[in-house]
Amino acid sequence: MSGALRGVYVDGAWRPGADELVAVNPARPAEQLGRYALAGAADVDDALAAARAALPAWRARPGLERAELLHRAAAIVEQRSEQIAVALTREEGKTIGEARGEVRRGVGVLRYFAGEVSQPAGEVYQSAVEGRFLFTLQEPLGVVAVVTPWNFPVAIPLWKIAPALAFGNTVVWKPATPTPQSSVHVIEALHDAGFPPGVVNLLLGGRSPVGQALVDAPGVDAISFTGSNPVGRAIERAATARGVKVQLELGGKNPVVVLPDADVALAVRETVRGAMLSTGQKCTATSRAIVVGDVADAFEQALLEAVRGLRVGDPLDPAVDVGPLVSAGQRDAVAAHLDQARAEGLRVGAGGGLLERPDGGWFVEPTVYLDVDPRSPIAREEIFGPVLAVMRAPDLDAAIALANDVDFGLSASVFTRDVEAAFRFVRGVDAGLVHVNSETTGSETQVPFGGMKASSSHSREQGRAARAFYTATKTVFLDMPAAA
Ligand code: NAP
Ligand code: MG
Repeated sequence: MSGALRGVYVDGAWRPGADELVAVNPARPAEQLGRYALAGAADVDDALAAARAALPAWRARPGLERAELLHRAAAIVEQRSEQIAVALTREEGKTIGEARGEVRRGVGVLRYFAGEVSQPAGEVYQSAVEGRFLFTLQEPLGVVAVVTPWNFPVAIPLWKIAPALAFGNTVVWKPATPTPQSSVHVIEALHDAGFPPGVVNLLLGGRSPVGQALVDAPGVDAISFTGSNPVGRAIERAATARGVKVQLELGGKNPVVVLPDADVALAVRETVRGAMLSTGQKCTATSRAIVVGDVADAFEQALLEAVRGLRVGDPLDPAVDVGPLVSAGQRDAVAAHLDQARAEGLRVGAGGGLLERPDGGWFVEPTVYLDVDPRSPIAREEIFGPVLAVMRAPDLDAAIALANDVDFGLSASVFTRDVEAAFRFVRGVDAGLVHVNSETTGSETQVPFGGMKASSSHSREQGRAARAFYTATKTVFLDMPAAA
């Protein structure tokens, strides 16, 4: 392919774009990782026109041929997985082990949706009318705008793009600005797999202008968004007003509840993983621990020891547990929460400040606050950093009430050996994802993913739920006149 900077891919070719971006390593911001093209308004229009033009042939193509291209893309991503994982770690800052896991997940997502194409694409019903053939068809929506965040820059785009393409839609994708190389790798794999020009297009964009222009464009039939609540809700309002199908996956304030009979070592290990891995930058990250009864002292002591023992540093070093935050902006946002906690006089169990390292870097100490007042912003707002608020509750019912006493409802965990208590938690907690004896993060491709309350638009992603979003149901009443 041409020597043009990558970042804008329209109608099967890389374009120069309207502007440039220099990506840097969040562990060492002086290290520049590369230059990328940024889309302008004309690129948005051209990408939508290319996706529209490619649609009739793509949707008419046999589904099993679309699946074959997804299988080829899976093989390519798998073959390049180490290169993609290293690029992801260098630009996003999650540890190399986690980046490898994310790329593996991406391969699995491509294979899963290739397989989904073979599942039934409609249903046949008995009719009230003699001789009538009554059935449903699932039809593609058309041109889908996909808008994604930087925290899973390979897996999240693939779990939107793969089902959109599998079910016969075409795609214009606007990824987050801080992770350009991950986006370029995804598109290179799809290009090399042989997806026809225009079927999938990439618009790396200079923050909101490109994203806003894309989601507001009349040529968009549906929007799938993952990101922050303010941006997501604004997109939803505008899309709903235009009658455009929209799906949002937003933030979380995910609790673990530790009951008196819990395996404390397990609860501590999973809470630390959920709160601190990926530097707390997961929508499903654990950000509250609610401890019930006698176990509180033992749990808190072991938790603080584990958190103080975390190795923070260069995420490419396999011995490191916690890397930097993705950007100076995220570091400043987390720092503002730490300042607020200090002003409020919260009790610090571990960390509580920024971490200075020789190469600079946007590091924050893994932080635990104890005895947090449930009304404190630290207990209510999404922080998106390695920060955990610990609270105590007298019993399970009080713990469930505390768990539910926030705007969000994405994920929640309970640690107990008591099946009855586990089920009371499962039934009582407001969360789209509920874990018993495992961390709040982590999902599997074949099951629905999404949140309750402020955490989503109440639709679900992945698994069979993806077919429900990326298709429209047509009900067909087929009567044939008698032969002449
Ligand atoms: P964000 O600021 O909302 O950005 C998400 C995407 O929207 C980016 O591609 C961004 O582009 C774009 N964007 C920004 N303003 C826009 C506008 N006005 N119109 C259209 N697009 C616009 O979120 P983020 O900081 O990347 O990600 C962190 C957030 O994502 C957290 O709140 C986290 O909880 C959430 N998240 C949720 C899930 C889930 O599945 N529930 C998963 C992961 C993350 P730029 O980068 O160019 O600004
Ligand atoms: Mg943002």
